Amino acid sequence: MKVVYNNGTVGEITDKAEELHVIRHTAAHIMAQAIKRLFPEADFAYGPANEKGFYYDVDLGDTKLTDDDLARIEAEMKKIVKENLPIKAFALPREEAVALMKERGEKYKVEHIADLPEDATITFYQQGEYIDMCVGPHLTYTKALKAFKIMGQSGAYWKNDKNNKMLTRVKGTAFATQQELDDYLKLLEEAEKRDHRRIGKEMKLFML
Ligand SMILES: [Zn+2]
Repeated sequence: MKVVYNNGTVGEITDKAEELHVIRHTAAHIMAQAIKRLFPEADFAYGPANEKGFYYDVDLGDTKLTDDDLARIEAEMKKIVKENLPIKAFALPREEAVALMKERGEKYKVEHIADLPEDATITFYQQGEYIDMCVGPHLTYTKALKAFKIMGQSGAYWKNDKNNKMLTRVKGTAFATQQELDDYLKLLEEAEKRDHRRIGKEMKLFML
């Protein structure tokens, strides 16, 4: 699988776990781009890939996302994939990095830069109109993202600190192929059914 590293070079990776991580990272940024298109006031915090997929914590002001909004975000992601935007990486000296993020109204990213060590190289990824700070690597084109789904939302505090503002965590998952995604969703559904049966049984016992 082709990936673009944060120094701008394109390389090839073959390790499956590594591939999945790159796919999910790229999906998180494409989701952020979709959210930004639909909610221009969106201000992004952290958006990592994890063992279940990926998420992005976002400050939407007073806006609460509905299920319909989540469907719209997923549809916009599909549009971005179809646009097949090239994904490019670039580095900036700290002051310019701060200026770029300030100019784009990304206050959490500015705070994040302040937390990085003095000698850190600050790198960005751009696809179309969207720029995000990240160490990468990512897929080289948005169309290389083949299978993804928005899984829901929850609340999350900035930097995990309950004294900070509560952000919206939008969650998704992504796989290399549609088949793998379908298999994963089926597994989840079966686990949920088992849980319901178990809870049902326990309630019955409880009521006897
Ligand atoms: Zn990334």
